[in-house]
Amino acid sequence: MSKSRPCPICRKPRSEEFTPFCSSRCRDRDLAQWFNEGYAVPGPPASESDLAPEE
Ligand SMILES: [Zn+2]
Repeated sequence: MSKSRPCPICRKPRSEEFTPFCSSRCRDRDLAQWFNEGYAVPGPPASESDLAPEE
C-alpha cells in the first residue's frame, strides 16, 4: 500500500530500527542539521542589556 521511502539523508533503503533513516549515523546527521539550522538563525542583536550593568 505504501511505498517505502529511502533514507532522506543518503537515499539508501531505510532500516526499520532507525526509520525513517537507514542508520543511526544518518539519524544523528539529521539531528545535527536541525541543530545547525536553528543555531544559524540570526537572532536579535541581544545580550547587550544582559552584559550592561544598568542602563
Ligand atoms: Zn542514510
